Amino acid sequence: MGRKIIVAGGGHGGIATAMLLAQNGFDVEVYEQNAQDNMGYDWTDIFNPRAFGKIGLPLPPEEMYEYKTDMTFYSVSENTAIEQRVPESEKEIKMERRDIYKYIISHAEKAGVKFNYGYTITGAIVQGKTVVGIRTDKGDVLGDLVIDSCGCDSALRASLPEDFGIQAKVNEYEKFFIYRAFFNRVSQEPVKDPFKVCVFAEGKLGIGWVATEENHTDLLVGRFEQFDMEEATRTADYYRSRNASLGTQVLRGNYFASIPVRHPLSIMVANGYAAIGDSAFMTFPITGTGIANCFSAAPMLATVLIKNKDKDYTADVLWEYQREYYKKIGNGLAPVAKAKLFLTTVTPEELDYIFDNKIISSKELSVSAEKVDIDIASYFNKETLLRGKAVLSNKALMKKFMTLAKGMLKVVAATSTMPKEYDEHKVSEWARKYDSLFTVD
Ligand SMILES: Cc1cc2nc3c(=O)[nH]c(=O)nc-3n(C[C@H](O)[C@H](O)[C@H](O)COP(=O)(O)OP(=O)(O)OC[C@H]3O[C@@H](n4cnc5c(N)ncnc54)[C@H](O)[C@@H]3O)c2cc1C
Repeated sequence: MGRKIIVAGGGHGGIATAMLLAQNGFDVEVYEQNAQDNMGYDWTDIFNPRAFGKIGLPLPPEEMYEYKTDMTFYSVSENTAIEQRVPESEKEIKMERRDIYKYIISHAEKAGVKFNYGYTITGAIVQGKTVVGIRTDKGDVLGDLVIDSCGCDSALRASLPEDFGIQAKVNEYEKFFIYRAFFNRVSQEPVKDPFKVCVFAEGKLGIGWVATEENHTDLLVGRFEQFDMEEATRTADYYRSRNASLGTQVLRGNYFASIPVRHPLSIMVANGYAAIGDSAFMTFPITGTGIANCFSAAPMLATVLIKNKDKDYTADVLWEYQREYYKKIGNGLAPVAKAKLFLTTVTPEELDYIFDNKIISSKELSVSAEKVDIDIASYFNKETLLRGKAVLSNKALMKKFMTLAKGMLKVVAATSTMPKEYDEHKVSEWARKYDSLFTVD
């Protein structure tokens, strides 16, 4: 039998890594708080179907997914609609979260992964400077490595000693609080915008969508501040006043969840510990989509573990995983996280100005969830000059854009100085500087 790997929490990236390791003879066990038939949320996810290929799986049977409709974006006034035009080759799929779980869990089980449901992880077991296992409500479990796949608010990550330098909790504007429910569809009349996305609806900092499907209407409300059911109900009524298809009868969901929308974790590894998925903040920092990224990260982590199967899983061995993740994905996400912070400084009127003057266009909003960076080079064209003119004639906005550009450049420079080799002092110094850049300027 190979090394004993504990996957803490049944997140997508953790299960995918578990599968890849079990296929290579590792002894892998997943510890998950939910029951098997209660994994995931009661709603659909949108992601690039190529994500399955990253972990060596074929596309699921066609009846398990459908292709997503292009979105139409509106700002506060809803004066200007910007339509997505995602090319055919980039089209994303929409799949039930519970079916995604069923699909990856069945493949992981086939590979030999053992799933332990109904275990709540309360923290890490640490000996000296090494994580040697997890504490659960049903007792302690020891292993050669703990993969943290407990999501954004991981209790495991939060329990690590402070001197590991791994950020325990997210800061302000780094997490989206989401309310989501499927309501009945009221009218069968054709809808102008079947997938309508509202940025700063009612002038509140956040995003919402109303997606009108054949037999239901999907409402999502996302904000940087926590809100309660009373506010969610009031907001649903607001959307109802503008979207005739949105009924009042709750069919599914009707609860809250959260997503990290920030830069990737600055230190993802320690002796005996590696974070993946939402616990390492691998989501696209504006939309919060993260399935494709954690499926991409899984083979990166598995490759390092397989290559070093005869060594202790120390931070310097695992550092290669973090470096690889940043090189392929994280370096692109970090400036986007800075751009997201810029959005928190823009007033509702300025956002309307940005939409009405096409400073943001269909092109930027047609990126798929797999896209990991902003294509700065594509801005240098004739169309950009016209946009530049619109920005120049709004001094306050111009100042904010300049601050954004400077901030993004600093972030790009910081990612390029991540230490090549693991050295505790150098890594924590780098992480301190890098993290300090993600403040609202
Ligand atoms: C409302 C919403 C909509 C989203 N839509 C999309 C989308 O359309 N497309 C997309 O790509 N991404 C989407 N995401 C993001 C996506 O869910 C994540 O980025 C992705 O699933 C990776 O997260 P994860 O699996 O690592 O963590 P999670 O999904 O948070 O999973 C963590 C797992 O760990 C378990 N766990 C947590 N704590 C403990 C504990 N203490 N003990 C034991 N088990 C524990 C949880 O029960 C859960 O099973 C959405 C997220 C939300 C909340």
